[in-house]
Amino acid sequence: MQVLITGGAGFIGSHLARALLERGDRVSVLDNLSTGSFENIRAFAHHPLYSFAIDDLRNALVLDRLASEADAIVHLAAAVGVQLVVERPTETIETNVLGTHAVLAAARRYRCRTLLASTSEVYGKGVKAPFSEEDDLLLGASSRSRWSYAASKLLDEFLGLAAYREFGLPVTIARFFNTVGPGQTGRYGMVVPRFVQAALRNEPLTVYGDGTQSRCFCHVRDTVRAIIDLLDRPDITAGEIYNIGSSHEVTITELAQTVIERTDSRSPIQYIPYSEAYAPGFEDMQRRVPDTTKIRNAIGWTPKYTLAQILDDVIDYERSRLGSGDHFHFTPGGRQL
Ligand code: NAD
Repeated sequence: MQVLITGGAGFIGSHLARALLERGDRVSVLDNLSTGSFENIRAFAHHPLYSFAIDDLRNALVLDRLASEADAIVHLAAAVGVQLVVERPTETIETNVLGTHAVLAAARRYRCRTLLASTSEVYGKGVKAPFSEEDDLLLGASSRSRWSYAASKLLDEFLGLAAYREFGLPVTIARFFNTVGPGQTGRYGMVVPRFVQAALRNEPLTVYGDGTQSRCFCHVRDTVRAIIDLLDRPDITAGEIYNIGSSHEVTITELAQTVIERTDSRSPIQYIPYSEAYAPGFEDMQRRVPDTTKIRNAIGWTPKYTLAQILDDVIDYERSRLGSGDHFHFTPGGRQL
């Protein structure tokens, strides 16, 4: 199978590319390296079954050519990360909505099986636990720009389901809850790499709010296995939405403590109000737990990695980067940041 991965130089995309290459699929990647990096794909950049285009998703000519060669498209490219979304809402909305529109149009032209990446953010301020796919969704006011990410991803879901219903395009929606693992950058506010990097330097671990908010963390290898298994069974999964995540809940304070323990760090934990970290009035969710019954019943998927294994993998990765001093990021202009 030839798979086009948009956002394939990003965190999840690069793990997915590696897994597909390992089983003998051909992989092409379209990525503008905005939050992704060449470092993520360096290990297989010269693989004979791999090709890479540094370009924006909305370059219609490039997208058309890559889609014309593909059997399947995994659409991961998006404006990602709470910080980026709050600071640049226009870019978030345009990248997510116009980008997905362009991908679906190309997929329709070449009848590509398509998997769209959505997010647990679409459950918004809902207080139910766990969240299941048919639940009502409760977003905050549009005056709060953080909701633009959820709203744009929700519109992507509607576009995908419409392409399935109106044109018979085999589209599957994956709602990722927090996915973590080696290679995730802490630059855009992702909590696990941020904590691990601080702990390894014996610097304070900064918790936003009071730290009682909880999250469920899923290893990127489990997420990638879910994506591939969903993609392999369009007969079951086309036109459907699936939660993908772990149901093991941990508070952010417990997470910080566990990171400190597992890194033997002397770091203290410091608490700062959301209003200092983000704009005043920032809203965060207290809990976010997925109900994964649907994907388990459909394709037998359940996550296999524990939080301890996830953290140890991230710690090993961050330690090796500290050791090698290998922090460069390759931009389209060839500049090293
Ligand atoms: P990431 O930032 O590492 O990957 C996104 C990739 O898209 C990056 O490589 C970036 O350079 C690329 N990109 C962004 N805008 C682009 C554009 N206009 N044209 C071409 N490429 C572009 O993030 P990730 O964690 O790998 O997320 C992948 C997908 O999964 C995203 O759609 C995200 O919304 C979704 N998701 C991730 C998580 C998570 O916990 N990691 C949770 C929920 C949803």
